[in-house]
Amino acid sequence: MTRTLFPETDLSLDALRALQLERLRSALRHAWENQAPYRARCDAAGVHPDDLRTLDDLRRFPFTTKADLRDAYPFGMFAIPREKCVRIHASSGTTGRPTVVGYSARDIALWAELMARSLHAGGARPGDIIHNAYGYGLFTGGLGAHYGAERLGCTVVPMSGGFGERQVQLIREFGARVVLMTPSYMLAVAEEFERQGIDPRDTAMRIGIFGAEPWTEGMRREIETRTGIDAVDIFGLSEVMGPGVACEFVESKDGPTVWEDHFYPEIVDPETGQPVADGQPGELVFTSLTKEAMPVIRYRTRDLTRLLPGSVTAMRRMARITGRSDDMLIVRGVNLFPSQVEEQILRDPRLTGHYLIELTRTGALDDLKVRVEAREALDPAALAEAATGLAKHLKGMCGLSAEIEIVEPGGVERSMGKARRVIDKRPRD
Ligand code: ADP
Repeated sequence: MTRTLFPETDLSLDALRALQLERLRSALRHAWENQAPYRARCDAAGVHPDDLRTLDDLRRFPFTTKADLRDAYPFGMFAIPREKCVRIHASSGTTGRPTVVGYSARDIALWAELMARSLHAGGARPGDIIHNAYGYGLFTGGLGAHYGAERLGCTVVPMSGGFGERQVQLIREFGARVVLMTPSYMLAVAEEFERQGIDPRDTAMRIGIFGAEPWTEGMRREIETRTGIDAVDIFGLSEVMGPGVACEFVESKDGPTVWEDHFYPEIVDPETGQPVADGQPGELVFTSLTKEAMPVIRYRTRDLTRLLPGSVTAMRRMARITGRSDDMLIVRGVNLFPSQVEEQILRDPRLTGHYLIELTRTGALDDLKVRVEAREALDPAALAEAATGLAKHLKGMCGLSAEIEIVEPGGVERSMGKARRVIDKRPRD
């Protein structure tokens, strides 16, 4: 049985709900007593931790938002004295001040445990060599994965991003069975294998655990067929912990299982904030049940997805993330996510997952351009056919006409971490 190392994942649904309620009570009390900004929110909403009698009562409590974390910059959301924090991380802060998160020694141990559980679900086993190409530093990816792999009893290669050539060299020479990085970077690594004339199937690499950015089933197929590995989806975000909040089981690959014994998920209507039923799409909201240094109550992730019933365990799964509400493009009044464009691109086996969406404006009208890389140099007829086909699929999907530019292999810039998918050159009004 694959899960004997992590018996908590065998909890029955009833036992899980009872545990969640007990933990939620103390998490709410901890936040209310020690996190001044959240307490102020509760007071303003006229709720008190004692008002929570059932899990459903959680909906009566206020949300925590990214703006709350920014307002508390840098340490105002800490619920323990700063001196008791052993680590700080921060999100990229591309849209303003970075959001800072802090961890107690116990939080770090829990994170390692949940990351080990995630890696194990993804197919890693004690004794494996794990090649970790998530970036090390303030970004939670590198160190989060690192501690988890050590906790599982693996040999970690702390590679970090960059150096495509060396990635391949070390994966091969050290004999990594499991690789960790963003899916877009894995595609670049797969190409580097091809460039060096090495078939990944001739190496020890069998599993890739990929996350930190939205990706599609088409991208999974592309990575798997190019490399022969199992590509598994892992999810997390720094505000809630970092990577390892949820992970897919390699045997089912049916969406990341949320580690619900530590993170209570809800889906809410992004407009009204009202919870929606499981299975319905909306914005993912998390409450941490056991975090010490920086608990989050009803944190609005802005990630859009659905909750699905448990499969391998009683814990619920999440469907693929379509995107973040703030990554949603509005083009000529139509809502569009880069992942939807990716889905259409990857319907054509001649095209790759390296693409860029460019938005410009002529007069009052938005222009949508998709630049995508061909797998190999195409003759003019094939090029025209692929471009027309993609334009047609995009039009069918969202009603928008797009200009398609298919470029030669290598023509779209590679990312080492999270891929940049959009260049918006439209004037801000
Ligand atoms: P930021 O990107 O804000 O700097 P993080 O590094 O904490 O912060 O990234 C977390 C975000 O990355 C998530 O909220 C989500 O949007 C995205 N993400 C992480 N894992 C996945 C995944 N498996 N699929 C889709 N999106 C993901």
